[in-house]
Amino acid sequence: MRFGEYSVKVVKGAAPVRRLCDNCNNVTDHVLVDQPYGIGFGLPFSKRPLWSTHRAYGLVCPTCTSGVEISKDEAQSLIRKGQSQ
Ligand SMILES: [Zn+2]
Repeated sequence: MRFGEYSVKVVKGAAPVRRLCDNCNNVTDHVLVDQPYGIGFGLPFSKRPLWSTHRAYGLVCPTCTSGVEISKDEAQSLIRKGQSQ
């Protein structure tokens, strides 16, 4: 999955999160993505990395590709949940 010039990796095996997208107002199964180099999650996606050393996780709406950052703890709980299914 690519967003502009950045590529982010969808975390395989993580449980999707059904939530209301703040951007397109659809309820979609947001996918967990792993962005090791840092991008600006939010609206709109920043053209430049806001940080370069943090490992960032996000939930991305498959409809409009808008993303929100989530904490590492939240991301890891989704991964555990996905793997236990
Ligand atoms: Zn959306």
